[in-house]
Amino acid sequence: MTMKITFDGREVPFEQGQTVLQAARDNGIYIPSLCYHRKTGPAGRCRLCVVEIKGMRGLQTACTVVAADGMDVQTATPLVLDTRRMIVNLLLSSGQHNCISCEQNSGCELQDAAYRLGIETPAFVIDEPQLPKDDSSEMVVRDMRKCIQCGRCVAGCKSVVVNEVLEFEQRGNDAKVVCDYDLPMAESTCVQCGECSQLCPVGAIIDKKSIGMGREWELKTVNTTCPYCGVGCQLTMHVDEAKNRIVKVTGREVLPNDGMLCVKGRYGFEFPSSPKRLTHPMIKKNGKHERVSWDEALDYTADRIKEIVARDGPGVFSAFGSGRITNENNYAIAKFTRAVIKTNNVDHCART
Ligand code: SF4
Ligand code: SF4
Repeated sequence: MTMKITFDGREVPFEQGQTVLQAARDNGIYIPSLCYHRKTGPAGRCRLCVVEIKGMRGLQTACTVVAADGMDVQTATPLVLDTRRMIVNLLLSSGQHNCISCEQNSGCELQDAAYRLGIETPAFVIDEPQLPKDDSSEMVVRDMRKCIQCGRCVAGCKSVVVNEVLEFEQRGNDAKVVCDYDLPMAESTCVQCGECSQLCPVGAIIDKKSIGMGREWELKTVNTTCPYCGVGCQLTMHVDEAKNRIVKVTGREVLPNDGMLCVKGRYGFEFPSSPKRLTHPMIKKNGKHERVSWDEALDYTADRIKEIVARDGPGVFSAFGSGRITNENNYAIAKFTRAVIKTNNVDHCART
């Protein structure tokens, strides 16, 4: 039996166990939320997803209420909208959210909520939090003055990538996200996977290499497979076409990686546009590398292999397959090494 829930008079189906927020999103119904992410689950922290549900007293957080057959939900009553405006105003007032220069401009979920609620300037003036920016680490910058304490980074680091670096320290107004026991990120146990950066809904945790390299709307997105190991993580390249360079990489939330990437996959993206990249074969002649044709390079390599194996025997030869090439290419390497050279000295880059 299909179960139905009603949002603002529109009846839609949902699956058993879904929260009201999940049922709404699956049916294209807008309910804002800053702390909920599918991977980190319901948190009930930001309260922005408040709705009115018939038969329930007061406002309910859509991310924590389990949907029920016949439930009647109102997502945009005056009380709901006023409450959301108050929440967003308080969040905007209690941090340093200078959208003009923020790296997250246009990708920020707080900015989007403010826009949809018609908030032009924060309604209150509250002292800015006096927290220093942490740009100690190689790949990730933390600016806790922009943090809205949604907890997505903490939950992501703890239970998605299971690195257990981030945690909330203190309580109330003094609460803040810290690395280990409030160490600079570079001195903590952080492995620079960037999951926290990808999960952060605002500009509080950002990718260092992408700073100032281009706005989201200027960049072309290209979905592809990570070129590093053999896992085949799915990612999106954010490309500045005019400058022919990759500006940023984000993980796609599909199998096999569900948005997660390692430090290489997320941040090792400069090599395609590096001027040092080899784009043609070279042979060292008279102590200097010289550009040659593929025919010359292949003939030279074949002759040298034949010469060395004839002189010293097949045991001096070894071949390495790679996780960055196809199964068929790896098969050919193994076949060539065993059947042509007649040695079992064949291995794979994953063990180096
Ligand atoms: S980069 Fe990865 S390991 Fe480091 S704090 Fe963020 S999620 Fe945790
Ligand atoms: S740093 Fe970002 S993800 Fe972490 S609690 Fe603050 S706003 Fe949320």
